[in-house]
Amino acid sequence: MLDALFKPRSVAIVGASNNPLSIGHIVMQNLLDHNFKGPIYPINPKSKYIKSFKAYASVSEIPDEVDLVNISIKNTLVPYVLEDCGKKGVKFAIVHTAGFKEVGEEGRQLERQIVEIAHKYGMRIYGPNSQGIQNSDPEVSVYANFTFVPMFPGNISIVAQSGGVGETLKIHLYRIGKGIRMYASFGNEADVSMNEIMDYYGQDEDTKVIMTHIETLKDPAGFLEVASRVTPKKPILALKTGKTSEGAVAVASHTGSLMEQDTLTDVIFKKAGVLRFHSQEDMINAAIAFSNQPVPPGDRVVIVTNTGGPAIIAVDECISAGLKLAKLSAKTKSTLKKLVFQEAIVSNPVDVVATAGTEQYGGTVEALLKDPNIDSILLVFVTAPFVDCEGIARKLGELGKTSKKPIMCQVMTIEKWQEVIRLIRASDIPVYDFAETAARALASMTRYGQIQRRPLPTHVTFRKQKKKVEVLLNKHKDKDRFIPQEDVFDILKSYGIPAVKTINVKREKGLGKAAEGIGYPLVLKVDAERIVHKSDVGGVVLGIKDEPALLFAYKKMAKKFAKYKPSFILQEHLTGGKELILGSKGNEGLAPTVMFGLGGVFVEVLKDVEFRLAPLSREDAIAMIQSIKGYPLLEGTRGDKPADTDAVVDILLRLSELGTDFPRLDEIDLNPVFVFPKGKGATVVDARIKLKP
Ligand code: ADP
Ligand code: MG
Repeated sequence: MLDALFKPRSVAIVGASNNPLSIGHIVMQNLLDHNFKGPIYPINPKSKYIKSFKAYASVSEIPDEVDLVNISIKNTLVPYVLEDCGKKGVKFAIVHTAGFKEVGEEGRQLERQIVEIAHKYGMRIYGPNSQGIQNSDPEVSVYANFTFVPMFPGNISIVAQSGGVGETLKIHLYRIGKGIRMYASFGNEADVSMNEIMDYYGQDEDTKVIMTHIETLKDPAGFLEVASRVTPKKPILALKTGKTSEGAVAVASHTGSLMEQDTLTDVIFKKAGVLRFHSQEDMINAAIAFSNQPVPPGDRVVIVTNTGGPAIIAVDECISAGLKLAKLSAKTKSTLKKLVFQEAIVSNPVDVVATAGTEQYGGTVEALLKDPNIDSILLVFVTAPFVDCEGIARKLGELGKTSKKPIMCQVMTIEKWQEVIRLIRASDIPVYDFAETAARALASMTRYGQIQRRPLPTHVTFRKQKKKVEVLLNKHKDKDRFIPQEDVFDILKSYGIPAVKTINVKREKGLGKAAEGIGYPLVLKVDAERIVHKSDVGGVVLGIKDEPALLFAYKKMAKKFAKYKPSFILQEHLTGGKELILGSKGNEGLAPTVMFGLGGVFVEVLKDVEFRLAPLSREDAIAMIQSIKGYPLLEGTRGDKPADTDAVVDILLRLSELGTDFPRLDEIDLNPVFVFPKGKGATVVDARIKLKP
């Protein structure tokens, strides 16, 4: 519960001074400027008064209860102050002071120490090395932060790892006259975590949209849990930066090497329904839209314009973001035809032409709002000097106030018509400078609508032989390595994953008998821990027709790989399948990431793969298959029969369960999996498993 942090009844400021350039002074001024509703207690042993407030020598001397303390004194003095705060019963301490974890081992120790002191008294630390918090709730109006953007009420809450990014977001909102609800930039996150703050915002009724900036997800599992709870209620917009700094791990498998460093963030966001942005600008523009507008019930957009070109840009951007152009109903068309000028175009976009006045432009929007075939409206509006632009803006304003469908607007104008923008904005219709900006913001809202409406996932469980896998893994205790093919295929079998008929042979003697068990034509492969990609080194011979050919191939391989002390496998030679790659890669403290893609020799070049976080639902598995670029190849093109994707869904789900049940299975590569035409199934042909110790 973070109430005493975001809704403190009283605030003490350790380090308050009369020097206007000190952090303590600025925090105090911010609290005063924003009419903080509780008492403020400056702490300064050297002064009697700070501003016109009585100063106390220490927190313990304050006669009343203290919820929150802001601390901005030298790092080495912080522990002493915290002891004092603890004894006093302070609930939260915002530590602005830097010089902790971020400066090295000594700082790290000091940071651990201050958290220990706080917890001894049941107090919580916010920071250190942090900006602070803000809450514009008029009942509280707390600005316990040392920055400078004035605060007024709104419904967007921000939690930013970087104070600089947080400030950028605030500045932009302020410039366009939008308030915020709550703000937090939490610094080193030694105690109060981003996840807790996100959870708090999620429960705050007056927060309509959450914006977050993340550099490192300190607790990915916690984030997934919290975000999954919040996103059905309100959107979380996230900017994740520092894509190259994290998780650079050595990987040996295809799955591992195809995963980009940032894949984990993507799969977590996807699973939790978090909207990811790649620029501050896109995120803030979407936040503005979410703040004011209803979420569209579907993806059908109509564009209305009084000038041609920008509307085409809007169309392009909408389509590439996955929206569809709505088809106007016959009724709407006939209404519009009566309403607009003759040279207007009643289609989508609706071009009402530049001479359209309030009746034409406003009337068009009014009619479109009633059309059941339309989910959202994007307006392109130039302030043509020969019409009553303010009249149009006023009319749009009226419509915007009651609309159940989102309306976005691009306004092209200059200073002279600022009143037009003001009127439209006053009605809660967001106004952007560019059509593509408006389109992208609308696309984000549409995406969120889809997330909200996504069906509850169906999780299927299978008959599996968990014990058997445990026994197999125990054979390789403490081993950080690839395991032999024989064991790999046994593990797959225990989870009902179909694999090609495979027989192991250690030496020449058993070869003939094994081959009878398989039947010709067959495949011979080498199996050794240090040979990861067999065919690269001549360790796979396909299409062996008879025993002499088998003996010949065997002898060659046995000689070539003698130094690896290999074993060999014989397999049935399969034909008529398409090659896929399926895989899984473990994540510390989380279920593994599962991969699906087109396999075969081109996989590393084309990288046509899709990732999801396990455990997969049936919907996840289907979506994964459908989202790769090569999906049409599986649907059947040019007379080709469609592939048995149901069988692939089944393998994906079993693989997801296997990886989730056994975190030691760090990398699983099923490459290739052959998928056959519908009804004929799918089969693993080659598999590698790497264990974690
Ligand atoms: P590696 O990946 O270690 O090089 P694979 O066992 O995947 O070795 O074999 C390489 C390629 O040979 C596969 O991608 C597939 O095209 C083909 N292949 C392997 N085994 C079979 C088989 N049993 N039937 C048909 N083709 C196979
Ligand atoms: Mg392979």
